[in-house]
Amino acid sequence: MEITSILNKKNILIFLIIFCILGGYIVYLNIYIYTLKDTIESKDELYKIQINNRINEINLLNDQLVDLQKILDIGLDLSKNDNIYLNTKLDEKDKKFILSSIPSGSPLEKTFITSKYGYRIHPISKTRKLHTGIDLKAKIGTNIYSPADGIVIKARSFDPGGYGKMIVIAHNYGFTTLYGHMSDLYVQVGQVVKKGSLIGLTGNTGQSNGPHLHYEVKFARKYIEPLDFVYWNKKTFNTIFTKELSLDWEKLILLIKERKNEL
Ligand SMILES: [Zn+2]
Repeated sequence: MEITSILNKKNILIFLIIFCILGGYIVYLNIYIYTLKDTIESKDELYKIQINNRINEINLLNDQLVDLQKILDIGLDLSKNDNIYLNTKLDEKDKKFILSSIPSGSPLEKTFITSKYGYRIHPISKTRKLHTGIDLKAKIGTNIYSPADGIVIKARSFDPGGYGKMIVIAHNYGFTTLYGHMSDLYVQVGQVVKKGSLIGLTGNTGQSNGPHLHYEVKFARKYIEPLDFVYWNKKTFNTIFTKELSLDWEKLILLIKERKNEL
């Protein structure tokens, strides 16, 4: 009996020792995990701050670039643009060809401008910035169509510049168009699109304060007023030549017509 009782006491002692060691180890592991979690969270926060700083730097550089573009823009003497209608006779087929090559018409079925192109107080940063495109009213999931033939040169699900999900299409003769804050992209980089091709859906991604489509038009890498191009069609064909003066329209239209006739 005595031996059994000693053995039992010994067992209990061993059990207690193991229990203490294991218990201590578990406590240690918990503390370790919590410290690790804290470190990861603080690093995550740090990375977020660093990414935001970079985005702000990019935006600032972008603004400076745009200002510089404006300052350096000596431009071409295009005061003779009014004569284009007289100098270059265009038939319906010529016009159709030009309107399918150069961005024309709205990327949405229904066009309602909620913010114009030009300098404005940015709705999120509250600073004076050039609004490089126009904002078109569109509930999330509205179809976006390409305003001319072209090649997709950017299709991003995240853009560091704040455009969110976005697409850029390179069209003929130096034009590009950009679509920002989208919810869905239907095209990939390198894809050939036609005028009227469905390229994706509108959304509210990136630095956006509500569902809309941000639409930009560039010529020779410079921002231009997209509105004149949105309202450009067969009926309003000649208005663009007097409204958008940063292009040598006469030479461009003549070139397109000549090439088309050679076909
Ligand atoms: Zn915008």
